[in-house]
Amino acid sequence: MRAVRAIARILAIATMAAACASPLRAGDDLTALARLDPAASGLADTASGGVTLDLALSQPVPFRVFLLADPPRLVIDFSELDFGPSRAEALDRSAAVTRFGWGLIRPGWSRLVAELDGPYRIRLAGMQTSATGEAALNVTLDPASATDFAALAANAPADTGRWSFPAAAAVTEAKRRQTGEAPLVVVIDPGHGGIDPGAEAGDMVEADIMLTFARELAESLRRAGMTAVLTRERDEFVPLETRISLARDAGADVFLSLHADSLPEGEATGATIYRMDETASDTASARLAERHDRADLLAGVDLAGQDDVLAGVMMDLARTETRPRGNRLASEIVAALGAAGIKTHRHPIQQAAFSVLKSPDIPSLLIETGFLSSRKDRERLNDPVWRAALQSAIESALEKWAVADAAEARLLRR
Ligand SMILES: [Zn+2]
Repeated sequence: MRAVRAIARILAIATMAAACASPLRAGDDLTALARLDPAASGLADTASGGVTLDLALSQPVPFRVFLLADPPRLVIDFSELDFGPSRAEALDRSAAVTRFGWGLIRPGWSRLVAELDGPYRIRLAGMQTSATGEAALNVTLDPASATDFAALAANAPADTGRWSFPAAAAVTEAKRRQTGEAPLVVVIDPGHGGIDPGAEAGDMVEADIMLTFARELAESLRRAGMTAVLTRERDEFVPLETRISLARDAGADVFLSLHADSLPEGEATGATIYRMDETASDTASARLAERHDRADLLAGVDLAGQDDVLAGVMMDLARTETRPRGNRLASEIVAALGAAGIKTHRHPIQQAAFSVLKSPDIPSLLIETGFLSSRKDRERLNDPVWRAALQSAIESALEKWAVADAAEARLLRR
């Protein structure tokens, strides 16, 4: 055990030294971002039953390497690195790595995560710079006992789970309901991003498509006099809990999370509105909610503690007041989709325990604009005319809903 600790300490010093080697900080104007050369990079099994990762970079960057448990993961954080258009999985030739991903995790910071099939230890983690200025990062893992692995993972930097994400504020006071006197504040949440691309089909990536859709929807809502705020403006990772905090900070009257997931369990097609409920409407919905939580976990974010925020009184408020308001909005949207002749799922309103919908006092819905697993939905999502029709239906539903919702708020205040 002592040897394990010593190794962990040496590694910690090595990675700290690497992290301190450059004065670069997030937000600095980088004239040349380090780029990955995928052709010269790869992830493969070693003869000793371990894993070796080689990354060829256009220039050295500060980095740190550590292990996380439950599930076992190797994580490498870099000062912002341009991974280019290639997908991480394409480089994975290791049987020991069950899932491999990378991407921007915060402005100025990139992360690579390899989910491992068991306990390993870091044998080697080093970056070499060539005479021409390029850099080669090698990280080699050896198999380890579960006990050794647990000790190493316990030595992960303290900020890994939260990185520099703002901590979720404890919700003690309910947000005042909108009464129609001010523009409706709609927080639009483009699903996934950065290290978590979401669903993929051919060259279509859910995170990118939803960012485009969110920008277009925001424009449409602003033209109608509403205030629209996005939870992310670029291809970066935002934890589910942070999306809720951002909505709260923006003073959201409504929160809409936008998705185009794949549903391998069935032949799902058409727009679908998901509302928050502890009981899922079916297995596919339950798995969808689980997959979204798992994407956070794989990115190194710990979801624990979120339910504590919703303790007691706030939970009651969510159940008795906020959820019925969200349900009414779901019905308005489905009605507007019908009126606009937009194809919906045969059960257009579904429910599951989506973490991103857990705001106790902000009506929150998750909209599957379509499913990337469906060819027809992919065609529709690629069609700007169809997207505009869906956006306009959402806009008119929000308008109708807000009027009725404000009337109810005024009545309750009396
Ligand atoms: Zn999604």
